[in-house]
Amino acid sequence: MGGLSAVLIEKPEEIFSRVYRELRPYAAQPKVTVEFRRFANANSRVQLFDGRLEAKLSDAFAEAPAYVVESLAHILVSKLARKPLARVHRDRYRRYLNRADVRRHIETLRKSRGRKLVDSPQGACYDLVEMFEELNVRFFGGMMARPELGWSRRVSRTTLGHYDPSHHAIVMSRLLDSPKVAKVAVEYVMYHEMLHLRFPEEHRGPRRCVHTGEFKAAEREFPEWETARKLLRALG
Ligand SMILES: [Zn+2]
Repeated sequence: MGGLSAVLIEKPEEIFSRVYRELRPYAAQPKVTVEFRRFANANSRVQLFDGRLEAKLSDAFAEAPAYVVESLAHILVSKLARKPLARVHRDRYRRYLNRADVRRHIETLRKSRGRKLVDSPQGACYDLVEMFEELNVRFFGGMMARPELGWSRRVSRTTLGHYDPSHHAIVMSRLLDSPKVAKVAVEYVMYHEMLHLRFPEEHRGPRRCVHTGEFKAAEREFPEWETARKLLRALG
């Protein structure tokens, strides 16, 4: 392709170099690399090491106009350089992310990635949507909003289920989608993951505490928890 316009438009690397020089005029000029990454949300970051400035930008910005990339560069580099951020850049960045077409684009990226990680919730033996809704009525008064649900592509023996906050998805191990696994055991795994939605992660000091006392108490409200645990242990 190429053409005249390609020559006139500043590349993302050039934009980041220029912004860096602007914000840290007396520092050595790093070699800049810009990479667009498949982040599930719009998060971007920069790192400075070994005389290199590495920018990893969400591919939500891959087609952004140069002035938006410039504002993003200001946001990331001013944080790195501990310089105040001009308001115009924050506003521009926010306005871009709020554009209806950009929001739709990010949503599509997010969803297509969610689907890549998991298979449909309708398994050979168990339907996760049906199971979620039954548990929802039984234990949460039907008030829990349903996240994405799916069976893992790989048969995992170690991770029977997990909640993935970046895709807002409960992923269940394909291992459980079998007539050899009692429904109550699958329900218990699903219930556990639903509790992760009910009790978002708490941070206590340096260690991440995922299963709080409150969480464990709620887990025991599942009447057949002992049976279910025994069955699951036998699987592993
Ligand atoms: Zn857990």
